[in-house]
Amino acid sequence: MEGMKWVAVGGVSYIGALWLIDGIHDFGPRVRSQEELEKMVEEEAPKLGLNHLKIDAKYDGETVGARKNGERYDLHLVGDGDKIHSSSTRATVRHELYHLLKDSDKGKLNPLYYFFVAEPRALLYGAFKIKM
Ligand SMILES: [Zn+2]
Repeated sequence: MEGMKWVAVGGVSYIGALWLIDGIHDFGPRVRSQEELEKMVEEEAPKLGLNHLKIDAKYDGETVGARKNGERYDLHLVGDGDKIHSSSTRATVRHELYHLLKDSDKGKLNPLYYFFVAEPRALLYGAFKIKM
């Protein structure tokens, strides 16, 4: 029983830490237009060795995310229309580029892998530019 308690404490701490790092993405200037998004992708992609010319960035996408699309990549933000994701910043763009670099070639991700590997390292890169 004592062991379970520590697992629970660890789980809550872990989720809390991810949530805090996610919050850091909200700081800094917001992305406000298609042009701004393209400029950020052009600036940030080379820092990860990605070719921005292969990335189709869309400001008014249906969701926030990045994925492989044939030989190219999609990177979408939801723009101003969505209240939940209206806080997309440069950190959000870095976060999605990191997903492209590390995990977009792997197809559908196992939820545990996503939660314990893919998402935390994208959060760390988005917020602090730490490459894991
Ligand atoms: Zn993510």
